[in-house]
Amino acid sequence: MSGAASTSMTTRAGAPRDVLLEDSIQFLPGVGPRRAEQFAKLGIKTVGNLLDYLPARHERHEFRTIENLDEGMIATVVGRIAAIRSQGGRRNSRVTATLVDNTGRCSLTWFNAQYVLDKLEQGTHIRATGKITEFMQLPQMVNPRFEVLGSDAQPVNEKLPPRLEPVYPATMEVPSRLIARLIAANLDRMVGQVREWYPPEFARQRRLIPRRQALGAIHRPTDERELAAARKRLAYDELLLMRIAVTLARRNRTALETAAAMPCTPQIDQRIRRRFPFRLTAGQDRAVKEIATDLATTRPMHRLLQGDVGCGKTVVALYAALTAVANKHQVAIMAPTELLAQQHARAIATYLEGSRVRHGLLVGGMPARQRKEMLASISQGEMDIVVGTHALLQGDVAFARLGLVVIDEQHRFGVRQRATIRSKGPAPHYLVMTATPIPRTLALTVFGDLDVTTIEELPPGRTPISTQVMGPGRHETAWESVRRELEAGRQAYVVYPLIDESDKSESKAATTEFKRLSQRVFSRHAVGLLHGRMESEERTTVMREFAAGTIAVLVATTVIEVGIDVPNATCMVIEHAERFGLSQLHQLRGRVGRGAHRSHCFLLTETPAAAEHQRLAVLAKTTDGFKVAEEDLRIRGPGEMLGLRQHGLPELRVADLIEDADLLRLAQRDAGQIVRGDPGLRRAEHEGLRAALVSRHVEMLQVAGIG
Ligand code: ADP
Ligand code: MG
Repeated sequence: MSGAASTSMTTRAGAPRDVLLEDSIQFLPGVGPRRAEQFAKLGIKTVGNLLDYLPARHERHEFRTIENLDEGMIATVVGRIAAIRSQGGRRNSRVTATLVDNTGRCSLTWFNAQYVLDKLEQGTHIRATGKITEFMQLPQMVNPRFEVLGSDAQPVNEKLPPRLEPVYPATMEVPSRLIARLIAANLDRMVGQVREWYPPEFARQRRLIPRRQALGAIHRPTDERELAAARKRLAYDELLLMRIAVTLARRNRTALETAAAMPCTPQIDQRIRRRFPFRLTAGQDRAVKEIATDLATTRPMHRLLQGDVGCGKTVVALYAALTAVANKHQVAIMAPTELLAQQHARAIATYLEGSRVRHGLLVGGMPARQRKEMLASISQGEMDIVVGTHALLQGDVAFARLGLVVIDEQHRFGVRQRATIRSKGPAPHYLVMTATPIPRTLALTVFGDLDVTTIEELPPGRTPISTQVMGPGRHETAWESVRRELEAGRQAYVVYPLIDESDKSESKAATTEFKRLSQRVFSRHAVGLLHGRMESEERTTVMREFAAGTIAVLVATTVIEVGIDVPNATCMVIEHAERFGLSQLHQLRGRVGRGAHRSHCFLLTETPAAAEHQRLAVLAKTTDGFKVAEEDLRIRGPGEMLGLRQHGLPELRVADLIEDADLLRLAQRDAGQIVRGDPGLRRAEHEGLRAALVSRHVEMLQVAGIG
């Protein structure tokens, strides 16, 4: 490509023909091979890439007379140089000038910019732009940009709307200013070539300005209103494109794959419901109906089941599993950790007591012989429900008739892992569960290829958890409250952060604290320790004792984040709460508040930072997992929140998942309609869309394709 570009460049040399969007940016005046290479590092290779390189933000430049300058603003003033002088030596020079207009005086300072002296002298009229600070009680601009004007210069017109200067994501080599200059110099001819994506009627109904106008305005807005309209149009385009890519990928998949139809008859439904010692909540009911509908067809189910901790997802998953078993198919249930796999296995065993359904556990630490037997019964179809970690569908595990895969994701898998799991064998149905409620908009983005079921209510009889944030030095208050609960016969968790289960120092911290707590703080109560580096047998024993109430205080690392269900535990102390994300803290505290007694959660933090306290205070204010998740999303961004940074989260450049939630819903609906009506995007009216999809979203299509 670069070869072709350079030949055509030599033939075209000097010809003032219009540069095309497909051309290398080397064709732009002033861009040589060196610059082109530097731009390439920003992903700008063609002229079209340059046009698509959108500002990260816009700086407001106000037009002001000197008396109206405010500290902190970026302003443009017009005035006359009343005095100018230079100080300091060669390396460390400073030029200072006094600028006057009819309203006042302003000080200008340039560092290491002797060239200024060549352009300015006493009496020169200039227009200067810079950030306003204060210096010796005068407004000051440091290193202002300026333009020399004639002596007939007019004073600034303060009625003009502020200028909005684009600020581009930049590097040391390619500063924002350079990008801005190059774009400004070529904007008209670039924009002139932009093709519209939608028929006029389509755009009008959605109040979208033409794409051409939007691209022009985002780089050179005349005012805030135009900028907002431009942003809206480009955000919509971006979201629509993403949804189309995801929808197409999903269509391809469902066209290629067939699953077994596993209908749920009224008899099966009744038989399954009898297994549960309670009535399903309305949310659970809705969820099982949606799942049963999916399972009844040969189109593989790809459904995300989300809901707050404790809302009863396990029951819903088991309902799905038993439907498959009733249809003579096997089920694999996968958990992110062995500990959680064991708990799922235990919960399932309880619900299935006395039933003929054959169920078992397959985890890494099993004795070789036991594992071999398990593998044999799985491959001979003698095992109906197998619970395990993600290793379950890898290597030597072969199912005789795998009909359903349940993935308790907890965000430790990502889209990529799901992809490898899916590519094994003939298509089973998939149910993905997640306990961190994902704001709907994010679910549409990250799990864009999944149908989403949300359980909103908790089972009856729960009392909300009261949460308190406690700063440095307030440990004793927390321990005091815990002791009161223990005296009343309740149980408690004390949690230490553990980022990685193999991290020795963190387990050691929990171990050390365990000693201190058991010997001093809770010397009159039984204290147990649980962390990821313990033998699984040992862990099982500790958990059993805690569940039985023999252990009153469980000191644990975040391994308890998932799964444990002890209704008598009403207290949780989380140490170093500042090290956790809000969603994770919310999930952790979901271990309490599972019974009828009022529960308490104490978030201890050693940091005095107000911002941290404010962040944690979100948890004190609400127990609604979705609100917590939205706040988390706002603070940390989607990749961080889901731990998905390496997992191909489609990058959004204009759209904001919170601010543009409505736009996303609209784009989702439209994408569905467009793809249904014209799956190949072959119609003439979709030509622009199709070209954009192919040229810009190859990578996203790949992610969506395997996701
Ligand atoms: P999740 O996996 O969504 O965090 P679980 O499935 O572990 O929630 O359920 C949490 C607790 O609620 C369990 O003790 C379970 O027995 C109980 N539970 C589930 N569904 C109901 C229901 N419909 N009515 C009463 N209790 C329920
Ligand atoms: Mg659960």
